[in-house]
Parts: sequence; structure tokens; C-alpha cells
Amino acid sequence: ERQRLSRLRHTPAVTMDGEKVELLANIEMPEDAPAALAAGALGVGLFRSEFLFMGRQGKLPGEEEQYQAYRRAVEGMQGLPVTIRTVDVGADKPLDHTHRDDAHLNPALGLRAIRWSLADPAMFRTQLRAILRAAAHGKVKLLIPMLAHGREIRQTLAQIDLARAELDNLGMVHGPIQLGAMIEIPAAALSVRLFLQYFDFLSIGTNDLIQYTLAIDRADESVAHLYDPLHPAVLKLVSDTLDACRALGKEVSVCGEMAGDVGMTRLLLGLGLRSFSMHPSQILAVKQEVLRSDTRKLSPWAQTVLLSDDPSQLMPT
Ligand code: PEP
Ligand code: MG
Repeated sequence: ERQRLSRLRHTPAVTMDGEKVELLANIEMPEDAPAALAAGALGVGLFRSEFLFMGRQGKLPGEEEQYQAYRRAVEGMQGLPVTIRTVDVGADKPLDHTHRDDAHLNPALGLRAIRWSLADPAMFRTQLRAILRAAAHGKVKLLIPMLAHGREIRQTLAQIDLARAELDNLGMVHGPIQLGAMIEIPAAALSVRLFLQYFDFLSIGTNDLIQYTLAIDRADESVAHLYDPLHPAVLKLVSDTLDACRALGKEVSVCGEMAGDVGMTRLLLGLGLRSFSMHPSQILAVKQEVLRSDTRKLSPWAQTVLLSDDPSQLMPT
């Protein structure tokens, strides 16, 4: 099966009715780029930069170290786009497990991701400068995690402008970026038009979107059976986000686990998704599903799934 799939590596991901689909890789380190290329990824849809920050006894990587890491990822992808997400650490993704701060009673609802970055603007701009510098070496897309508020969006944009101005003042080379936001808080999905005013592209983080929509801690085994990607509320938020992007012609992808789940491929295609980002090991299996899919049939079916009170009943087994 593996060998059979590997023959699909150079096959374009196009549905039976000719819809082009973009399959991208999620990576954690620059060293993952070769695996992404080997799987036939058309780029990196999510570089989780927090892996550069974790397990270092609280000592954060400096601008130069980060720049080198982002540059290695960009060069490793040989001209394909690399979406670098600013650091997503915080109470629920501790920098260092030996220093876990148990003072946070609701870590998933606490100071994480962009909230953590905006709480320390100098640290945030260090990362932004490193990413902007790496953008001189290839196509870089900058992705911001966990935004919910217009005020956070405007603060983030101001920090990016400031980081660019700092580089200009120092006479340092930097490149252009496209700017995107993760849609992973229900409030963001419900106010997606606000996001589309500010961002070039969106990326739906279903892992957190499910967690926050259903009030299920994604790390808590005791409620794992209730963590349901097919809950009608989750599907509605995903679908509404896709529709809003399509209406404005904005790029949108899904980068949560859902995107790499072959059982979800047809439904996501039917809902209109054309860009999927996943662990490199899933790319060929998802491509096989894409090649067997006909979106002209999937679109009406997906609408019935969307309106169903029990979508799991309608899913292929
Ligand atoms: C997500 O929330 O779906 C996502 C891709 O981000 P992470 O899993 O890193 O929180
Ligand atoms: Mg997330």
C-alpha cells in the first residue's frame, strides 16, 4: 500500500471533475522540510515555530538563531511557500515541562499564543524580525495563532510594522510576506468578516476550534470521547468560514488534524475546501482520496451532512 501510494508523489492532486487541490505539510523543525518534499507537499501550510522555543529551560532563542532556523526551512522547501506561525506556547503548551506553572487553572483559556506574544512585545518583535529576514530567501507567509479580538489584530499589525521599521533602521534586508490568521476560536469563526478585512489568508485550526466550540479540553483523556469533529456546530463554523473566504476570493486552508484524516477528505472537499495542511505522512493517502472524488457529487451531499442533526450517520464507513 505504501509503495502504491508513493507513486502518487508527483501526481497533481486534482479531483475527477478537475478541481485543483493544494496539499501542504505541517512541520515542527526546519529539518522536516525534506520529508515534506518527499511526500509531494506543495509547501508548508504550518510551521509550528514553538518547537524552537520549547525545552530550553526558559531561555528563548534569539533573533539570529530564529532567523537561521526559518531560513533553513525556507531554503529546504526549494522555492515553495512556507507558512511560519508565530509562537504558540503558553499555559497549555509549556515552554519547559519541568517549570510548568500550575497557577493557571484554565490553561487553554489563559495566556497562550498571540496573547503570550503581545504580552511581551520586544520578544514578539524579535520573532517577527527573524521571520521578515527569512522572507528575503523565499516565499514566506506569516500566520498568527489564537486571535479573537479586533484590538489584538490591530496590535499585531502594529508590531509587524514596527519590526519592519526596526530592520530598516538597522539597514537589514527583509522580504515581503503574506499575512494570515488562524481561525481556531469560535469567536473568530463567527466574526470572520472582521478577519478578512485585515488578512491575506486564513487557516482553520480545527484542533482548537473543536476544543473551544465543544468545551472539551483536547488534552484531557477523560472527555476525549466527546471530542467530535463531526459535531454540527463544528461543521457549521468550518463551513461558514470557507463560504466567507470564497465570497471574497481569499485563500483559506485547514491545518488541524481534520485535514489529514482521510475519513474527512470528501466532506471537506464537499464544503468547498481546496487547501489542506497536514503531517507529511498523511499527504499521499489524502491525495488518493482527492483523486477519487467528484466535487459535483460531494457538494450537495456535504450540504445534507451540514444540515443533519447526526452527521456521523451520513459519513461513508
Ligand atoms: C489547531 O489548533 O488546529 C492547530 C493546527 O494548531 P495546534 O494544534 O498547534 O494548536
Ligand atoms: Mg491551535
